[in-house]
Amino acid sequence: MRVVPVPVLSDNYSYLVIDEAERTAAVVDCSEVEPMLAAAQAEGVTITAVLSTHHHYDHVGGNEEIAGRIPVRVYGNADDDGRIPALTDGVREGDTVHVGQLEARVIYVPAHTSGHIAYYFEEQRAVFTGDTLFAAGCGRLFEGDPEQMMNSLAKLNTLPEATKVYAGHEYTVKNLEFAYLLEPRNKAIADKLAWARARRREGQPTLPSTIGSERNTNPFLRSKNQELRAAIFERFPDLEDDEVEVFGATRRLKDEF
Ligand code: ZN
Ligand code: FE
Repeated sequence: MRVVPVPVLSDNYSYLVIDEAERTAAVVDCSEVEPMLAAAQAEGVTITAVLSTHHHYDHVGGNEEIAGRIPVRVYGNADDDGRIPALTDGVREGDTVHVGQLEARVIYVPAHTSGHIAYYFEEQRAVFTGDTLFAAGCGRLFEGDPEQMMNSLAKLNTLPEATKVYAGHEYTVKNLEFAYLLEPRNKAIADKLAWARARRREGQPTLPSTIGSERNTNPFLRSKNQELRAAIFERFPDLEDDEVEVFGATRRLKDEF
């Protein structure tokens, strides 16, 4: 498998996921069509599938156009039929999707939207997380609550630590600035922030991350951490001492950051 991140719109990533044996590829989250066709041509591969993570326009805005221009299967949550344009193959938790000889398993991770799914390529140790798990962050809670997002992130957190995390947006620097605010003594956060700033100065993506890196730097996987908890209780003195409450307060704080 080869993964090519393609920057689209202002800060989205679409990904070309290539099966090098069959020279076929899938687009994860098709927003702008032209850059994806150009990337496929540069790689010498044929796009045969679109894997949609959720119904937001910046992730599916190109579905109709690409389906009109080339023959593709369009995968997405079966329950989002009607919200995901050009959907041909509705899938649910545990279903598998094939890209040439590559196989991805669907993981249901609701909360950013009620139908959000991730695509996990177990053999290749790679997961495409859309707007659920970002490097050092998580999606806003548009169609779910803090508990649901915690559960969705907990599912992703069970993947092996070497698993590469391909997220839907380049939010890493801003997310790590927020993480650093809560845990100024966490060296993993400070080091990764310096690295991410350097990458962005060079115009390079900060993704993929890894599940292991997220465990060490992502405030939304660290609601039990003492320094983070102290920072949250300092800002929300009346907060109930409960992990979901800490998570929810962290999310609210990030909404205003
Ligand atoms: Zn979204
Ligand atoms: Fe998005």
